[in-house]
Amino acid sequence: MGNIGFYAGSFDPFTNGHLQIVKKTAECFEKVIIGVGYNSDKMPRVDKQKMVEAIKKTIKELNLNNVEVILYNGLTVDAAKKYNANILIRGLRNGTDYQYEENIAMMNEKVLGLDTCYFRAGDFGYLSSSVVMELYSNNMSIDEYVPKYVAELLEEIKNNK
Ligand code: ADP
Repeated sequence: MGNIGFYAGSFDPFTNGHLQIVKKTAECFEKVIIGVGYNSDKMPRVDKQKMVEAIKKTIKELNLNNVEVILYNGLTVDAAKKYNANILIRGLRNGTDYQYEENIAMMNEKVLGLDTCYFRAGDFGYLSSSVVMELYSNNMSIDEYVPKYVAELLEEIKNNK
């Protein structure tokens, strides 16, 4: 049986950098679950359920048929196990990401028994959710940096304010 990867993140918002990691992992794993989670250090900027829907539409349009999107609370490893995933997936942009991720990965492996697989950011290594939100709040176009459905969601939020 093939491996099932669990790609967790705040995805607040989900960017083309995240999407690139999803595309790469969809080729490597039998199944990939994108877990949209709550980061206890960060206040959510965008409604999580709506972000899940925007990611689902993006995945569907790209025919990434072995990718699922779910919303979860609590520990990433618990959510991964619930969905029968056996490997955690994280993206690396640079050494700072590595240092941050490695602490969590060691913990997840030693204490909780799940290994982590890193994927390189590649073309979108300069991109972060916070940079996208900074541009967006200053009325700059973000179309190049996020999937169409995420851009629509952000627009909808702005219009409702
Ligand atoms: P978290 O708040 O849980 O760190 P993020 O949503 O910021 O979640 O990121 C989720 C994962 O995606 C992390 O492993 C992060 O390093 C990775 N990531 C973030 N931005 C990019 C990018 N532009 N390219 C590749 N990976 C990225």
